[in-house]
Amino acid sequence: MKRISNYINGVLSEPISGSYLDLYNPSTGQPYAKVPDSDVRDVEKAFTAAEEAFANWSSMPVGDRSRVLTKIADLIEDNLERLASAESLDNGKPVSLAIQVDIPRAAANFRFFAQAITQFSTSAHEMSDAINYTLRQPLGVVGTISPWNLPLYLFTWKIAPALAAGNTVIAKPSEVTPMTAFLLSELCIEAGLPKGVLNIVHGDGLKVGAEITKHPKVKAISFTGSTKVGREIARVAAPMFKKISLEMGGKNPNIIFADCNYEKMLATTVRSSFANQGQICLCGSRIFIESTIYDKFKTDFVNRVKMLKVGPPSESSTDIGAIVSQVHYEKILSYIQLAKEEGGTILTGGTAVFPKGHDHGWYIEPTIIEGLDADCRTNQEEIFGPVVTIMPFDSEKEVLAYANSTNYGLSCTVWTENISRANRIAKAIEAGIVWVNTWLLRDLRTPFGGVKNSGVGREGGLEALRFFTETKNVCIQF
Ligand code: NAD
Repeated sequence: MKRISNYINGVLSEPISGSYLDLYNPSTGQPYAKVPDSDVRDVEKAFTAAEEAFANWSSMPVGDRSRVLTKIADLIEDNLERLASAESLDNGKPVSLAIQVDIPRAAANFRFFAQAITQFSTSAHEMSDAINYTLRQPLGVVGTISPWNLPLYLFTWKIAPALAAGNTVIAKPSEVTPMTAFLLSELCIEAGLPKGVLNIVHGDGLKVGAEITKHPKVKAISFTGSTKVGREIARVAAPMFKKISLEMGGKNPNIIFADCNYEKMLATTVRSSFANQGQICLCGSRIFIESTIYDKFKTDFVNRVKMLKVGPPSESSTDIGAIVSQVHYEKILSYIQLAKEEGGTILTGGTAVFPKGHDHGWYIEPTIIEGLDADCRTNQEEIFGPVVTIMPFDSEKEVLAYANSTNYGLSCTVWTENISRANRIAKAIEAGIVWVNTWLLRDLRTPFGGVKNSGVGREGGLEALRFFTETKNVCIQF
């Protein structure tokens, strides 16, 4: 069985313990590879390598750093199909999605920050007899911890700005989907990234992620994952005065007014509900529909969703692939059961399904539920699967109260042709990201993140470069 390696100090290496965890193929439910079960010793080794590499990497001319990162972007693009197949096998997502979204975005992350750092400037404040100028200096060794839903996409979203800004990195991908991070380490070697600049330590959250978080000399933690783990990272890192950036869970509202562009809304809502099996933190899992079009929407939405093909991730005709892990599959099914107990009616889906030849795979039909109150657990807790609820509303005030009623505040989608209303909702909604008449349209320069239990800090563009640098003011009197 294939064994993947850690990437520490520029070389691929075994975990010091010599032990490995099983890596599962979600479409068959069977193990297919082994991932290092690293521990504190591997984290320490990675830290030493990163600390030694920092002086050279941080003082390298920006143009040179930029060239290495651009080379990594080129290599990701050259390996598009290989990386996409690996991502699809590891995660269960349709290979078509990995080809169109995950892997191109991973390359774009490197390319974007390779360019952005060459444009990153600081400010000066003039006084009558002095000048102040601001330095923005890299922090040192930083830690990044990422989840399984968009494995290479989110892994690189953190690494690229951290490296561009001159830091050295200890990165921990999810142990559930580590394969493309491993393949990236091979590409970093090919690109000539100096040793120790990026160190990828694979393994369990408690043995690796927690050790990176509590390491006294790791200066910042950039985390994407669940609110539960984010809270634990904040608890450990805050008293150490580390910088933290936390991108966490969501329970996003999708608000549909009767005056919307109906066809565009319907097609996009199918995607925003079920893309990546509903396992995107930005998916709109609570759909609110103005009552005058509720029945029409319900019929059309259910019909469209029934047409989605649940199937093996490797088949190009598949719309909905497999759920990432058995634990997560069981969690989603338990929430469907809860929805029934809470009085919900399943309009379509609601059960596990086994495509031909995949009797042990983790597949769930795209599921639409109606008849639930906005404040029940199904509508308040993150399910993070192919499950959405639909609910009618009569007024802006009413729908805003529903939309803002959860502890989460990541994103919101609003469908209306009324520009004043769109602005009113955008202003009043408790979320870090609002999409009007679109969904998941991303410009990498924009701030990305959530409010309430969805996030602390912002990623993207200059926000990420600011996070990964420390500000210093220098005042010189004439
Ligand atoms: P998770 O929190 O279980 O794990 C995320 C990462 O943290 C993994 O690498 C894991 O090994 C590590 N980890 C676990 N325990 C740790 C600890 N005690 N200390 C340090 N690291 C630890 O999340 P997941 O199940 O991998 O991902 C799904 C979650 O991620 C969902 O809640 C989803 O909403 C969220 N997410 C958020 C965003 C966003 O941008 N806000 C994007 C994608 C996913």
